[in-house]
Amino acid sequence: MEIEKVKCLIIGSGPAGYTAAIYAGRANLSPVLYQGLQPGGQLTTTTEVENFPGYPEGIDGPKLMEDLQKQAERFGANLRFGIATAADLSKAPYKITIDEEKVLEADTVIISTGATAKYLGLEDEKKYAGMGVSACATCDGFFYRKKTVAVVGGGDTACEEAIYLAGLASKVYLLVRKPFLRASKIMQERVMNHEKIEVLFEHNAEGLYGTNGVEGVHLVKRKGEVDEKHYDLPVDGFFLAIGHKPNSDIFKPYLDTDEIGYIITEGDSPRTKVPGVFAAGDVADPHYRQAITAAGSGCKAAIEAERYLSAKGLLPKE
Ligand code: NDP
Repeated sequence: MEIEKVKCLIIGSGPAGYTAAIYAGRANLSPVLYQGLQPGGQLTTTTEVENFPGYPEGIDGPKLMEDLQKQAERFGANLRFGIATAADLSKAPYKITIDEEKVLEADTVIISTGATAKYLGLEDEKKYAGMGVSACATCDGFFYRKKTVAVVGGGDTACEEAIYLAGLASKVYLLVRKPFLRASKIMQERVMNHEKIEVLFEHNAEGLYGTNGVEGVHLVKRKGEVDEKHYDLPVDGFFLAIGHKPNSDIFKPYLDTDEIGYIITEGDSPRTKVPGVFAAGDVADPHYRQAITAAGSGCKAAIEAERYLSAKGLLPKE
C-alpha cells in the first residue's frame, strides 16, 4: 500500500474543515484535506444561508461552500476527493486510510467529519428535500414566518426546534411517536405551555403531499392499535428533529466520545486526548451545530496544530 507523509491532514469539507485548511495553509503547514462523502458538507443540502456573518443578503449554501473551498485553495491547501475509511491513532505519526487503498502518515490530524441528521426514511423526504423538508430549524425556520409547520421528535432538540419555530410560524405541531416526551422536564413544560405549539402524541408521519412543495403530512395515530386512525394534516414545512449521528466511528477506539458518538474535547478547545489530533465542527459539537461555530472551531484546530508542530520542531524551516 502506498504511504504518503503529511504535516497536517484535515478530514471533512464542511465549514470546520475548510476554515482549518485556510488557517493551516496560511501557517505554511501544507494541509491535505479529504472532502469525504458529501463535499461541502451539510450546507450543500440547504438553499439559502442567512445567518453566516458577512452576507447581508444571504448566500446559497453550495455557493458559500464553493467560496470557502476557493479560499482554502488560494492558501495552498491540497483538496482531494476521498473518504477516510480507517484510522490508527495509537502513536504518532497517525495513520489514516483513504478509500481503503491509500495510507497517509500525518503529524497532526484535524477531524471535521461532521454529523448527519437522521431522517425517517420516507421516500417523500427526498422528493421534497429543500421544498419544505428540513432538518435544521435555525437554518430554515425564517422561511416559515406566519406559516404552519410540523416538527418530528420528542427529545430536547425537537422541543428546542419547536420553540424556535413558534417564534416565527403561526402554528407548530410537534409529532411525537410515544405517549410522552423524552425531553428534559423544563423543555417539556415550555413546549406544553406554549400557545402556538400543539403536541400530537402517538403520531407517526407516513408521507407528505403537495404539488409545489410540502402542503401537508399523512399521519397515523396510535399505529398498530385497534383505534388506529389515518388522517392528513396541512402544513407548509416538515422539520426532522430525531437526532444526529456524528461521523466518528473510525476514531472511537482512540478518542473519548459521549454516548451518542460526539468526540469529547478538552474544555472548549478542539484538543482530543491524543496529542496532535483535533476535532472541530459538528463531530464534536452536540450543542450549537452552526456553520459559524464549526468555522470557529476549525480555526482553533489549525492554530492548535501549528502550535503542536512548532513545539515538536516539525515546522518547515525557512
Ligand atoms: P434524542 O435521541 O434525545 O431524541 C430523539 C427523539 O426523536 C426521541 O423523542 C425519539 O423518540 C424520536 N425519534 C427517533 N427516531 C424516530 C422515528 N423514526 N420516528 C419518530 N420519532 C423518532 O435526540 P435529541 O437530538 O433530541 O438530543 C440528543 C442529545 O442532546 C440528548 O442527550 C439531549 O438531551 C441533548 N440536547 C440537549 C439540549 C439542551 O440541553 N439544551 C438541546 C438539544 C439536545 P422516542 O422517545 O420514542 O425514542
